[in-house]
Amino acid sequence: MSDGSKGLRLYNTLTRTKEDFVPIDANNVRMYVCGPTVYDFAHIGNARPAIVFDVLFRLLRHLYGADHVTYVRNITDVDDKINARALRDFGDQIAGAEQLTLNEAIRKVTETTASQYQNDVKALGCLEPTHQPRATEFVLPGEGKKSDMVTLIQQLLDKGHAYAASGGSGREILFDTASMPDYGELSKRNLDEQQAGARVEVEAHKKNPADFVLWKESEHHEPGWVAHFKNIGDYGRIRGRPGWHIECSAMSEAYLGKEFDIHGGGLDLIFPHHENEIAQSRCAHGTETMARFWMHNGFLQVEGQKMSKSLGNFFTISELLETERFGGRKWPGEVLRLAMLMTHYREPIDFSVRKLEEAFSMWRSFAQIVREFASQPEVDVQFVAALSDDLSTSAAIARLHELRAGAADDVSMGRRLLGSLRLLGLFTQPFQLKVQVYTPLPISDVSIDELLRQNSTLAGDVDLFVVAETLARNHGDAATHLVRPLNRFGKSTTMFDYRILAKVSSIEEFEIKTEQRLAFIAQKNWAEADRIRGELLAQGIQLKDGKDPVTGERVTTWEVKR
Ligand SMILES: [Zn+2]
Repeated sequence: MSDGSKGLRLYNTLTRTKEDFVPIDANNVRMYVCGPTVYDFAHIGNARPAIVFDVLFRLLRHLYGADHVTYVRNITDVDDKINARALRDFGDQIAGAEQLTLNEAIRKVTETTASQYQNDVKALGCLEPTHQPRATEFVLPGEGKKSDMVTLIQQLLDKGHAYAASGGSGREILFDTASMPDYGELSKRNLDEQQAGARVEVEAHKKNPADFVLWKESEHHEPGWVAHFKNIGDYGRIRGRPGWHIECSAMSEAYLGKEFDIHGGGLDLIFPHHENEIAQSRCAHGTETMARFWMHNGFLQVEGQKMSKSLGNFFTISELLETERFGGRKWPGEVLRLAMLMTHYREPIDFSVRKLEEAFSMWRSFAQIVREFASQPEVDVQFVAALSDDLSTSAAIARLHELRAGAADDVSMGRRLLGSLRLLGLFTQPFQLKVQVYTPLPISDVSIDELLRQNSTLAGDVDLFVVAETLARNHGDAATHLVRPLNRFGKSTTMFDYRILAKVSSIEEFEIKTEQRLAFIAQKNWAEADRIRGELLAQGIQLKDGKDPVTGERVTTWEVKR
């Protein structure tokens, strides 16, 4: 297929239809997704676009090659909510003798929040986008910059799509929506309808009620950049800050060009944010399109209700990962990810404890199979076809179940199960990532490396951490000793069995007993050997003797009696 079509079909909000995806340049497929406004912890609703478009990013990389996809997700680090947060957290220091400026306080807020966000989405299994530009770096023109907000605004002024006016809080430069005949094409809004419903008296300085701010003057205590605009008389120099929408027009142009393939975000961004991005970019550049495909993920509710702080059902990503607030336990990032993908991205999703439990049990059913195939993943054609149908994750997951069911008898299905799970962003990492997720564990990096070296089939198994958590709770630093029994039994038992370690009074005692028993067996002292076996059985450990089929040596394995 020489036109760059790879069988991918995507629903395009612009046309309200599912269309064949054909990239402008198959050597560089370009996608932009609106990222977080960094003033507070990201909530679970923010996780949805991060995960959905990460799956699309992975699929595009699979179809076109990892080096032929450019994914840009911006960081909004200029916003009045950020200013408010900086004043709330650092107001005393700004007013006091510490000489902290507002800009420094803002930087503290945005840097801390942005790094929290990066940790959160990493734990959810999201790849880093190719570029993550910060809005504040694209406000003013500068050497080597391919685009910036002030230049874009000047282009709009020059072409008659923008005008200056004095509003209630100072001078503004506004986009003239009437200057664009097909303004409203994305949200299918009619300009006349909008005018009828607008509160005209509040915005008397606007030519049309739908006109939106490109640049607004800052008061001296507000953050601002000194911008110079030509050909607008007294308004030539305005110390101010950008409106919300212009940043995405500038950053997408800088990294992806004037026209690119896919623009994504949450449903709530269609209007006004994306509508206004289109207006700015197309009018500044004189292009027919900004992005060819516009994709939007559906809303998220929690336990059947809109998430809100006042209802007490507001959860941040890190609360789900690190605390027991939701459903009385911590949730592994991969389980949150799988739960999110169990609903098609365009549908509304109800995030509930029940859904997470369902996802966890599904995740376990995969985990128990895929460790066998850790080194030989393959990609399943039917799975890719399901995902290529507008990211039909329900059909894709149904295929995963078929592969799982067949894996016991067909090695190739097991390999394709793992390869397909990885394409969804699951089971991509060996232990280390999970150690970060389950941070309160006293397991050193060294012992984890040792674990991996000793038993490569452990990759992707999180049960160790469930065990280690229990151990840590019951036996303090006992979890650090986990490595020894693992080395001994790792080849013959599954990690699941290590849950038992939480039941014995100490791992040392367990080791001593099993060694004593082997010694009694060697002496043919069956009575003593049986006594120890009985003691362990009383603690819930069933010992089993057998012969190694290769060496013929006696081997003792054990399992949890349930
Ligand atoms: Zn945006």
